[in-house]
Amino acid sequence: MSVRVRFAPSPTGYLHIGAARTALYNWLFARKQGGKFLLRIEDTDLQRSTEESTRSIFEGLAWLGLDYDEEVVFQSANAEKHRAVAHRLLEEGKAYRDFTPREERSEANVKQEIAARARRAAAGGETQTNPYRDLPREESDRRAAAGEPFAIRLKVPREGISEFHDIVYGKQERDYAEIEDLVLVRSDGHPLYNLSVVCDDIEMGITHVIRGQDHLTNTHKQILIYRALGAPVPQFAHLPLILAPNKAKLSKRKHGEVVSLTTYRDRGFLPAAFRNFLALLGWSPADGKEIMTLDEMIERFSLEGIHRSNAIFNFNERDPRQWTDPKALWMNAEYIHRMPLDELLPFVRAELESAGLWRAEYQGERREWFRRTVDLIRQRFHTLKDFSGQGRAYFSDEFSFDEAAVEKNLRREPRLKELLPKLARALEEVEPFTAENVERALRAFAEEAGVKAGLLINAARTALTGQAVGPSMFDVFEALGRERSVRRLRAAADLISP
Ligand code: GLU
Repeated sequence: MSVRVRFAPSPTGYLHIGAARTALYNWLFARKQGGKFLLRIEDTDLQRSTEESTRSIFEGLAWLGLDYDEEVVFQSANAEKHRAVAHRLLEEGKAYRDFTPREERSEANVKQEIAARARRAAAGGETQTNPYRDLPREESDRRAAAGEPFAIRLKVPREGISEFHDIVYGKQERDYAEIEDLVLVRSDGHPLYNLSVVCDDIEMGITHVIRGQDHLTNTHKQILIYRALGAPVPQFAHLPLILAPNKAKLSKRKHGEVVSLTTYRDRGFLPAAFRNFLALLGWSPADGKEIMTLDEMIERFSLEGIHRSNAIFNFNERDPRQWTDPKALWMNAEYIHRMPLDELLPFVRAELESAGLWRAEYQGERREWFRRTVDLIRQRFHTLKDFSGQGRAYFSDEFSFDEAAVEKNLRREPRLKELLPKLARALEEVEPFTAENVERALRAFAEEAGVKAGLLINAARTALTGQAVGPSMFDVFEALGRERSVRRLRAAADLISP
């Protein structure tokens, strides 16, 4: 039997990183097993579903490189079929009409009813006590024919235990007495979640349901529906939750955009890096490898390798430098430093374009320069934003100076005011303007002036790039070229004192 899995998000908000991880695990499992990964948009909540959210799901999957097989299924299009299934169960006596007026079905009543049922169960008494459950068929038909509104409920067994094996969490049990006769179709004709999911999963031939562990209790109910329909029950694998550092559930309301997948794209993450990070948020390969290509990840992935303990997403809301999990940033930096340069360049280009720093010549006559420069500066960067931020001086003459760097590297030594223009003068003579030649010239100049070369190197770094740190300074000179280097050395003299 070939594996068929699905990702079934409800389009009621931005794509949450927890949902993105569910999609990733389904995708990895399908690719590993040579199966199919299907997408179903569960847009049945008409009030809360939005097109924008649906778009964010498509965009998020595309960004992560999770391609899906076959046509997307929109659940709302199947409502008629779901209703028909409920009516079939009604015909077969596996479900019944509940004529309880809507107003009596308030939340408080439902809670009371659940509490009462629990008490009855504890006392060894009857648990399924909906008065309509055993209404004679003729009466039920008559009231329906007379136009009285009704919900359709599944008959949950009065006694016994619901049991299934979860691939991640192992044996799961629940007393039927704890499960109320669930509503399949509301009195306004709206099919409800558990029914719709089961119908669609059957129709789509789903073999493994992989989803968040917050669905564990639904699974007991859904298995009852499969059984009532006489359909084979798929295998289930529930995923641990992703929690905030204080163990609270991650939510947009409480944790803001750190929870939204698009935030990572917009803040300069490489999709491969974020995907790699997400994969490890609840799963680890047997060999403990952390940085993996997609093929390596597929090869190592197994549902058995998923953890039972909830994952913690470590971020510090009070420290903007730790706006997201440090491991995510570390991983992104590793990718930026190590990935093949040619794979990185299109991302750098996109970043420079959005910052208004891209020039056509970077893929024309200055192509080689662009490649070398990106390769030089990427070694210290954590996100793609750094190419237009800290790295701005390489692509524009309008860059800002780190005040602390100016203080430390330029203002602290008043002699630099005279030395820098002289150094500029000396460098004008260097031909060709290579790192080695600049180094030789700068060291000779320092010796003659009676200062340490380090003083000039540090001053030049801040003068040329605005920063206190960066790649080897002689490489920086070469990357910026003679004309810009000389001009910036002279201009920096003005920063020292009026
Ligand atoms: N639509 C459900 C959700 O977003 C998931 C349903 C499922 O995976 O069975 O939580």
